[in-house]
Amino acid sequence: MTTEATRAATEAPGAPLPILSHWIDGRPVEVLPEATGPVYNPATGKVIARVPRGGAAEVDAAVTAARAAFPAWRDMPLIARSQIFFAFRERMWQHREELARLITRDHGKTYPDALTEVLRGLETVEYACGLPTLLAGMNTPGVSTNVDAHTLRQPVGVAVGITPFNFPVMVPTWIYPIALACGNTFILKPSSHTPGATQLQAELWKEAGLPDGVFNVVYGGREAVQALVEHPGVDAIQFVGSTAVGRYVYETGTHLGKRVTSFTSAKNAMVVLPDADMELAADAAIASGYGSAGERCMAQTLIVTVGDAGDRLRPLMEERIARLNVGPGMEPGVDMGPIYSAEHRASVIEWIDRGATEGAELVVDGRPFRHPDSPDGFFLGVTLFDHVTPEMKVFNEEIFGPVLGMVRVSTYGEALGLVNGHQYANGTAIFTTDGGAARRYELDVDVPMIGINVPIPVPAGYMSFGGAKLSAFGDLKMRGEDSIRFFTREKEVTVRWPEPGRRPALSLVFPSNS
Ligand code: NAD
Repeated sequence: MTTEATRAATEAPGAPLPILSHWIDGRPVEVLPEATGPVYNPATGKVIARVPRGGAAEVDAAVTAARAAFPAWRDMPLIARSQIFFAFRERMWQHREELARLITRDHGKTYPDALTEVLRGLETVEYACGLPTLLAGMNTPGVSTNVDAHTLRQPVGVAVGITPFNFPVMVPTWIYPIALACGNTFILKPSSHTPGATQLQAELWKEAGLPDGVFNVVYGGREAVQALVEHPGVDAIQFVGSTAVGRYVYETGTHLGKRVTSFTSAKNAMVVLPDADMELAADAAIASGYGSAGERCMAQTLIVTVGDAGDRLRPLMEERIARLNVGPGMEPGVDMGPIYSAEHRASVIEWIDRGATEGAELVVDGRPFRHPDSPDGFFLGVTLFDHVTPEMKVFNEEIFGPVLGMVRVSTYGEALGLVNGHQYANGTAIFTTDGGAARRYELDVDVPMIGINVPIPVPAGYMSFGGAKLSAFGDLKMRGEDSIRFFTREKEVTVRWPEPGRRPALSLVFPSNS
């Protein structure tokens, strides 16, 4: 079923539930209802569609299609390849509002937030449009007498993206445009919780002129992921999701000789120094911690306050919390939508129970919140803990919900020690008006993505993105120059064209560059 037909079926009252299709070799592959699982609208709690549960057979079909399409795609002239990217970019821009509506419907985040997600994904598509220059190698004439050297960047083969529920457009479009631009063919395995915007992406590629088999989609969970990780026809995998699954994908994939990077869970801390602009810091903490119901890997969910910063920040945060509007993401004026699933809502509630039991001060409790017009929606209010300490599980573990924890310390050094001692390292921020302190933090902190008075420091689309420690497995980051390296094999070529009459004499000495 096409995206348009699915949408029409979803919207028609009393119509049977639409069933999404895998996308293999340039066309939808339909499945029987018994091989599907439910897709929920978290704002209503109702099932709105069914998504295929793919396994080894579908993965094998997608790998076969991707392998068959690889030689021609690899050999397509770079300008022709980039023209397809420009055409896709135009279509993605034209369909940005539709993509955003599909994200809000499946995930629950607010429509403006979903639209921004699409635009942040578009940035990487735009970066990939410049593929002829991105793939340029190095050329060094005269490395030795009559000897030149140059490098080539060639695709690795069939690449895979395994992506999470929380950014159904942005995370895939941080991965596949670069994989495709480098001349690889691709299989996307998106999250089954938020599949609505995926097929539209496949359809837009087809309209843009991408040859069949170059971009494929297989839906499914553990079985599909295992089949992709173990398939001998898969050469490279970028995974984004939880640390437990990402570690398995990385360890199994690399053991089987594939290139793998996994970008995984996070628990980010925002340090607030006493000289910070407290109004700015309060806005930042609320926006970062509760935006998208806290379901962002770059959310700053620990607010580490130094000296009297905590006493001054907390009332400003409480004022803002009192004004927050929680409701369906498509409604104008809503700040925060529902949690994406009933199970995850229950898990976040368990974390709040745990924080209270561990002795954190429960300043604002989101557990009792019910939306009056949508009692079956997966809504939860926002929660604020104070006096969270490093011994607590709510300090150490990712909750991935609208739960903020304030931590009190006396010095900058203590704050830095807490951030650097954490098991996760994805993003961090510091709020201060002291340029020297900000500079010191930038140099001292062991976290790769840093915001100075910026709470969600997601680098621009042409820059690389990725964490460290338990937030990433593998050496290269996602997007940007690192992704070009990840999705290509480099060759170094050394060339001699002897001039007539100047052939070098036989020598058994190791070649010197002179
Ligand atoms: P998840 O690990 O549950 O799912 C990620 C992918 O793995 C999905 O495609 C899913 O279908 C698949 N999967 C799930 N369980 C599996 C299993 N047992 N075996 C094999 N595959 C399985 O993650 P999620 O809940 O979709 O996403 C939230 C997580 O992703 C959070 O931990 C968040 O921090 C992380 N995340 C990280 C980044 C980053 O860049 N570091 C970005 C976004 C999200």
